[in-house]
Parts: sequence; structure tokens; C-alpha cells
Amino acid sequence: MLKKFAYIIVLVSLVLAGCRPVGASNLDFSDRTIRVVATTGMVGDLVENIGGERVQVITLMGPGVDPHLYSASEGDVATLASADLIFYNGLDLEAQMGRVFERMEGSIRTIAVAEGVDRSLLLESADYEGQFDPHIWFDVTLWMEAVKVVQDVLVEFDPDHAELYQGNAESYLEELNELHAYVLAQAERITSEQRVLITAHDAFSYFGRAYGFQVEGLQGISTATEASAADVQALANLIVSHRIPAIFIETSVPTRTIEAVQNAVNAQGHEVAIGGELYSDALGNPGTPEGVYTGMVKANIDTIVNGLLGGND
Ligand SMILES: [Zn+2]
Repeated sequence: MLKKFAYIIVLVSLVLAGCRPVGASNLDFSDRTIRVVATTGMVGDLVENIGGERVQVITLMGPGVDPHLYSASEGDVATLASADLIFYNGLDLEAQMGRVFERMEGSIRTIAVAEGVDRSLLLESADYEGQFDPHIWFDVTLWMEAVKVVQDVLVEFDPDHAELYQGNAESYLEELNELHAYVLAQAERITSEQRVLITAHDAFSYFGRAYGFQVEGLQGISTATEASAADVQALANLIVSHRIPAIFIETSVPTRTIEAVQNAVNAQGHEVAIGGELYSDALGNPGTPEGVYTGMVKANIDTIVNGLLGGND
């Protein structure tokens, strides 16, 4: 592992050695688009919405890919090195890629969108002292803060098109405002007692805070730590005692852990359904409604509410 990492770092250095010098400002975008490389689908989608036709976005992590565990391939390093701007989530979401980004920083502007959000709005990580929960996209109002971060970067980088970026940001913020209202309205369909969300890992704390759900993840804030048998049992006991009708799997996390919880619940004579699949740390397939951020958020709240209603809506 270390050996592989050292190799990637050497590769980064070699690739960057052939790049333009640090601080180069002679960038002329009048006849070409800005090349952006983004890590997660959510971040890529955000930059596309603000950058519009001015940006060409390459997203490294496709549907079902877990950003906590993702490490850069040789191809990724070459792709990253060809970017004008690199956008990533940050707050240690892409834990294996942090040092690759650090090495790029001197040559290519690298922006962690979640780290541009006011710290007072962030939740501290339950697992890692002094760190923040990176899953900010689950609270639509926090993602609206990320819109402003991206807008400011693009305006500064390409001031000739400032009005375009500002206009795009404004209309996207309106869309996100409506999305936030939609999630709130959907959540209202179930009682506060019914709002217990059990998922594979602790991705939904911001969602819980924004929309009034108690959230229990089987694994911690990163999928890098495995759930223990005791974790499975504790969660099963909670489900039985609260008569929770449904628990949820995630598209970017293997299903076996949450199925272990379901089996432990069944062993106690209670039935809990798999309420459906949530898009936690990755978008759905391109070209489907869930292939963009707004569709992902809608699909999640619809799945959660229908699951917790136990199909009785
Ligand atoms: Zn996560």
C-alpha cells in the first residue's frame, strides 16, 4: 500500500514537472472551455451547474463508487494534471487522495468545496476528534453554501464571464431552494416518532439535523471502519424496541452489513424491510433522474418516507 502510494507521488511529480510553471496567469479561455476535474459526482454536477457551457467537467468517481476508499489510479493522476481547476469535497471525504491533491496544489488550483463552507454550520465528526463530517450535500441549505464557493472560484479564475457564473448560481440557488422545500414537505408526511433513519454508514447526520430525523449508521462516518457484531446487535435491538419498519442500503456501500442487521432483527421475531436503496456518497447513472444532485436528493427522501410509512401511504 505504502509502496503504491509512494509510486503515485513520484508519478504526480513527474507529470507536474511537464506542466506550466506555478502561478501561471497567462491563461486565455476566450477560445476554449475551462477543464475541470472533480472527484465525486455531486461536486462535478455542482461545477457543471455554475460553469455551464464554459466548463468541461471530468468526474473521477462514477455511480456506486465509495469516495472514502477511492485511491487515485495512474490514469486519474494524468487526468488531474491536465486540469485547469480541480474541485473536490474535502473534509477528508476522499481520504486516500488528500496527499495527491496537496502535491498538485502548487501547479493547479485545487478547491475543497466543503472546506469553503462556514465552519459554524458544520457538524463535528463523531469518530475523529477535531474533524468535521464531510457529508454536507445531504442538507440542501449547506449545498447552497457550496454553490457560492464554486461561483466565487469561477468568477475569480475567469472574470470575463463573471456575469454568466453569477446568473447560473442565482438560478441554481432558486432550484435548490425549491428542492429544500420539497424535502421538508415530504418529511412532514411522517410523524416525528417515525423519523428514524437506519443506514449502512453515518452519511446522513446533516440530513437528520436539517429535516428532523434521528439517524443511526451501522458503520461510522467513514466506510473504512467495519461494523462489529456488537454494533449489529445494538442496532437490531433499537429496531425491535422502536418497531422500526424499514432500514436502508446505500448505493456506494456493500449490502451485506445492513443485511446482517436485518437478519439479527428477524432472529428476534420482528420483521424489518429493506426500505430501498439510498444514494449516499455517489450519484446514480448518468442520464437517469438520480444522475444529478437534485434528482438524487428527491429519490432519497421519497425512498425514506415511503419505506418508513411501510408502504401504507
Ligand atoms: Zn460517506
